[in-house]
Amino acid sequence: MSARILDGRAVAAEVLAEVGVRAERLRARGVVPCLAVVLVGDDPASAIYVRNKGRRAAEVGIETRDLRLPASTSESDLLARVDALARDPAVHGILVQLPLPPGIDARRVLEAIPPDKDVDGFHPENLGRLVIGDPRLVPCTPAGCMRLLAHTGIDLCGKRAVVVGRSNIVGKPMAHLLLQADATVTIAHSRTRDLPRVVGEADVVVAAAGRPGLVRGAWIREGAVVLDVGINRVEGRLTGDVEFAAAAERAAWITPVPGGVGPMTIACLMENVVQAAEGPPG
Ligand code: NAP
Repeated sequence: MSARILDGRAVAAEVLAEVGVRAERLRARGVVPCLAVVLVGDDPASAIYVRNKGRRAAEVGIETRDLRLPASTSESDLLARVDALARDPAVHGILVQLPLPPGIDARRVLEAIPPDKDVDGFHPENLGRLVIGDPRLVPCTPAGCMRLLAHTGIDLCGKRAVVVGRSNIVGKPMAHLLLQADATVTIAHSRTRDLPRVVGEADVVVAAAGRPGLVRGAWIREGAVVLDVGINRVEGRLTGDVEFAAAAERAAWITPVPGGVGPMTIACLMENVVQAAEGPPG
């Protein structure tokens, strides 16, 4: 078998087009969807992510407010800034770019974002809602993966899914979204025994370990769907967590890196901003 490519750029463009329509509707009601992005310090990768988010937002009619703070910012200063954004009715979404400089407790800062403005979906209330099956703002990368899975047209009900990685921002929410779609879900991590066998049983593999080429092509079950979340820089090139060429020989669908999950993450962030601006359902 030779896999079909799950083209994240194309699916993201569809998502962004829908977001643009929703943003336009909000503007017609006098609501300008607005995302505040807080960047502390001068991590070059974070600066690129923030710039890309700003560009995408502008393309779909979302206003952005950039708050750039020096690496010397104290936790209490940062909390005060987040609190000001939390109280500002013109701001619908607040994103604090991670990682934060040493000395700042990221968990405290993320918990200071009101759940209804938490467009990253990292607040314990939003994660808790996802776990109890009542999701509101869902973390963007797992949400993007679900959109890619929907694009394959494959019904996930009863399928065996393996998520490699158990971070709070990718692996765990991903597993819960798959569970909600009635898949039978296994979460693998660095202590998992016999990862090749675990991955080999999966109809859907989501690799989110941040280890280049960890998931070998030979492990993939014939006809599986493979989503590669990993972004690793190896000798100056971006590469995923999956041994792409060999996996593509066996999978039915596979995401490339770059151009797979990455573009979906930003698109789903924009979707969360319009959702936050639209207000609670009902
Ligand atoms: P993370 O917090 O470092 O978590 C990595 C997870 O992978 C951990 O649960 C770890 O297990 C597990 N792991 C590490 N080595 C393993 C191994 N050899 N076998 C099995 N499991 C292993 O990373 P993250 O934030 O979830 O991100 C994961 C990857 O996705 C990174 O490459 C990141 O850059 C990328 N990412 C991409 C996007 C995107 O938009 N495409 C968004 C976010 C993240 P333990 O818990 O046991 O340590």
